[in-house]
Amino acid sequence: MNILIINCGSSSIKYQLFSMERKASLLNGIVEKIGSEEASVTHRKGEKKHKQTIGVPDYFSAVEIIAGLLTHPEWGAVEEKSAIHAIGHRVVHGGEEFKSSVVIDKHVMERIKYYGKLAPLHNPPAYNGIRGTMQIFPHTVQVAVFDTAFHQTMPEEAYLYGLPYKLYKQYCIRRYGFHGTSHRYVAEAAAKMLKRPLVKLKLITCHLGNGCSITAVKNGKSVDTSMGFTPLEGLLMGTRCGDIDPALVGYIMEKEKMTINQVNDLMNRKSGLLGLSGISNDMRDLLECAKKGNHRAKLAIDVFIYRVKKYIGAYIAVMNGADTVILTAGIGENVAIMKQRLSKEMSNVLGRRIKILTIHTDEERLIAFDTYELVKNKK
Ligand code: ADP
Repeated sequence: MNILIINCGSSSIKYQLFSMERKASLLNGIVEKIGSEEASVTHRKGEKKHKQTIGVPDYFSAVEIIAGLLTHPEWGAVEEKSAIHAIGHRVVHGGEEFKSSVVIDKHVMERIKYYGKLAPLHNPPAYNGIRGTMQIFPHTVQVAVFDTAFHQTMPEEAYLYGLPYKLYKQYCIRRYGFHGTSHRYVAEAAAKMLKRPLVKLKLITCHLGNGCSITAVKNGKSVDTSMGFTPLEGLLMGTRCGDIDPALVGYIMEKEKMTINQVNDLMNRKSGLLGLSGISNDMRDLLECAKKGNHRAKLAIDVFIYRVKKYIGAYIAVMNGADTVILTAGIGENVAIMKQRLSKEMSNVLGRRIKILTIHTDEERLIAFDTYELVKNKK
């Protein structure tokens, strides 16, 4: 069975084709800057890469281009569109309704649109991407895999904020958490590596990429996570501030004469590693500058690691212990000092028992497996 994975961002679509029999990725690529004159497609098949600047007015055209590449004599992997047996979509927000992946029907589409109010930057492009995909692959089963689904097991005490309860009831204001697919993938992978059942493990999964979040996974279930109502809460990130005193929003608005949108922009795009260092949101640049003695680069890295330690400590408390801490995503997998500093600076807390593992995350693969599970009996 061939499964196509579609991951729609605010102006891009990433895609990847899997053969489930061969347990292999056949090709992948990205269409970027959708809606602009400089839109481009970068397509990879094995070692070969093909990049082209091309007009892509909307998501429908982007999916059309992808479909053309999948069946292309040189760049494709199948002869006809009908050889794509199912399509799995990454959807960021599934509210409280979606606790696992689902086959997309009219109702699911309506709800993805509805939850756009909770994820205005993420759900609308996913909705448009799915619509485009449905038009171009009208006979193919499509599945939605939600970032929020894995965290739906959190208890009330973890997901409720200390705000009037009626705001939760009226506006669905609560912690949802994100990166769920990645946390679930590395938790399952860790159990396999440790050769122990996931249902008997207490894991702390740290997804440290451009966006960063940490999850406490107890007996295979997310019991708390650092991102909240939006992906802004928690750790320091590339350009996001993570936890701050909520009173600062009003204070900054007053001092800087900013609107709420401007403060939102400041917290989401101009803060984090970029804001503190004044250099870059990219950890590689900061490591380089810190090595040369740049104080602000070093400071940004220190704040980043300090926050990670704080959350790991909190989640050891939440679960009354832990078996393993897992580092994943761009920074988690590649920055050696992360593991070294956590091991050294938390040696008393971790003791000999709690090991730190680095595991490569593969959200697309998990989306493919979920899709396969949902469609295999329908064929
Ligand atoms: P995204 O959340 O966009 O998927 P990634 O998981 O690719 O992000 O992570 C991006 C971050 O990982 C950036 O800060 C980047 O600097 C860092 N990173 C990626 N590769 C390396 C590397 N080899 N060494 C150090 N940092 C890296």
